[in-house]
Amino acid sequence: MAIFPIRTFGDPVLRSVAAEVDEIDDGIRHLVGDMIETMYDAPGVGLAAPQIGISKRVFVFDWADGSGAHTLINPVMIETSGEWEFEEGCLSVPGRYWPIRRPAFSRVRGLDLDGNAVEYSGDELLGRVLQHEFDHLEGMLLIERLERRVRKEALRELRDEALGL
Ligand code: ZN
Repeated sequence: MAIFPIRTFGDPVLRSVAAEVDEIDDGIRHLVGDMIETMYDAPGVGLAAPQIGISKRVFVFDWADGSGAHTLINPVMIETSGEWEFEEGCLSVPGRYWPIRRPAFSRVRGLDLDGNAVEYSGDELLGRVLQHEFDHLEGMLLIERLERRVRKEALRELRDEALGL
């Protein structure tokens, strides 16, 4: 297992729709081990495979309820409801937080590392982590969840920063 550098805003892998996992083999088990280690090192509450440069539909999360790290492979978002605004950040956009409005509740179904069907659902923090990590597999960053005006300003700042302005 190893800790990987986390890809940041501007890296095209973060804008790509990730590929389904065909088979949960040693390669996937190894990837998940690396992702969990990288998530804890960051530290973060969730990490999606594209964030370490692997465009596959896998994410891990630990929302600090004491149940440890969980893995979802080929997740499908099956339900969202309500609305909740919360100051949200992303390991791929380090040091930046924005108030982002999302559904408060979400339910996600996928496979665990043994290939068993698993389902996670929750509101507020867990609901948000599930949506945020799922977005990564769709090639979407939290910036795209900002209101248009705020998003333009955020993108301008990030580009200036990247250019060292
Ligand atoms: Zn993120």
